[in-house]
Amino acid sequence: MDLDVTPAQQAFREEVRAFVRDRLPSDIRERLRAGHPPRKQDTVTWQRILNERGWAAPHWPRQFGGAELGQMERLILLDEMYRAPAPLPQVFNVTMLGPVLMKFGTPAQCEYFLPKLANLDLWFCQGFSEPGSGSDLASLRTAARRDGDQYVVNGQKIWTTTAHLADWVFALVRTNVEARKQEGISFLLIDLKSPGITIRPIYSIDGEHHLNEVFFDEVRVPVDNLVGQENRGWDCAKYLLGNERTGIANVGLCRERLDLAREMASRTREGGVCLLDDSKLRGEFAVLDAEIRALEVTNYRFLLTPSAQQALPAFASVLKLKGVELQQDINTLLARLAGPAGLERRGSDDIVHGPLTPRYFYSRAASIYGGTSEVQKDILAKAVVG
Ligand SMILES: Cc1cc2nc3c(=O)[nH]c(=O)nc-3n(C[C@H](O)[C@H](O)[C@H](O)COP(=O)(O)OP(=O)(O)OC[C@H]3O[C@@H](n4cnc5c(N)ncnc54)[C@H](O)[C@@H]3O)c2cc1C
Repeated sequence: MDLDVTPAQQAFREEVRAFVRDRLPSDIRERLRAGHPPRKQDTVTWQRILNERGWAAPHWPRQFGGAELGQMERLILLDEMYRAPAPLPQVFNVTMLGPVLMKFGTPAQCEYFLPKLANLDLWFCQGFSEPGSGSDLASLRTAARRDGDQYVVNGQKIWTTTAHLADWVFALVRTNVEARKQEGISFLLIDLKSPGITIRPIYSIDGEHHLNEVFFDEVRVPVDNLVGQENRGWDCAKYLLGNERTGIANVGLCRERLDLAREMASRTREGGVCLLDDSKLRGEFAVLDAEIRALEVTNYRFLLTPSAQQALPAFASVLKLKGVELQQDINTLLARLAGPAGLERRGSDDIVHGPLTPRYFYSRAASIYGGTSEVQKDILAKAVVG
């Protein structure tokens, strides 16, 4: 089968590239290029620029502010964001919650929340994992009991990315302790300003504050904030987790990081010799280049072949596994090339190398979030061996 992009898709790539070149603020681009994570304001600023064009939520229907882009166009858009590099549209709002509201939400929920999600007027985070309930998510224990037209929520979430920056959380809560574990869960939208919520930081190995614990103590949530039916929240969760397949391989990210590594190697000299003249290092670049191209072709094949899409989730597991391995290999190479300069100098404006070593550390987390590598291998083993 022909895995090349069509002329129309190539034209779309050029259109996106020109838009990003003209509209992405240069300070944001430079910070990301140096390896810093985007600041909240960077993501908000850029998402609002994209939203003017319908590209903040590119796959959403036009009536909700999207551009109804197909999977290939969406992948091209993501690739170009990575290539710039630019912040990606806020994943919890756009990729996770928005589609769940369109499928399971009430018209009032869609009307109120969707425009705010696309424009980042509200920042949502994801409250699924709990201590002891990560891979085995359905064992979660945070409970919501009904009291009139409110739920009263008690319990704890963990690893909640950006909860400290967020306005709201979408959370899975147990509303029936008697039922089979998947059948007693509901999907709630909770305002993080509600009394009874405590957010505590977890500092990760890169020294940054991305993650949090979130505690709920008698938190009152209007019943109107239930998405879908009571005790059917697992349907929403499965839809949400299964929905995100485009971009799962992160090909654009791998390519952008490898280009940076090559640029660093070409301007670093050791003992008077340019690092890029080292044939062993050039061999490493060649292998990584080939692996990225292979991943890209596999990704296209997945998107363009209906039988591959039917083979979900096994095919998606291959993309996630291989994409994560490559990201980690490239971050390892970058940290090695940067040497001591890869350590962030806090308070300094030096963004020549930026925090490449902390970023290498944090890249280890990619084989945990979004389904651990061991769980992906389990899925593959079941698909292959039965
Ligand atoms: C950086 C980061 C950001 C995150 N952000 C969020 C967030 O925003 N919201 C949210 O809800 N969660 C978030 N998570 C949580 C993430 O979803 C969980 O960490 C993940 O699902 C794994 O769960 P766990 O940590 O409880 O580990 P466990 O599930 O306890 O796994 C521990 C180990 O056992 C292995 N294992 C578990 N089950 C099996 C199995 N069946 N077969 C083989 N091996 C197995 C795992 O692979 C792992 O090595 C984040 C995690 C990280 C690291």
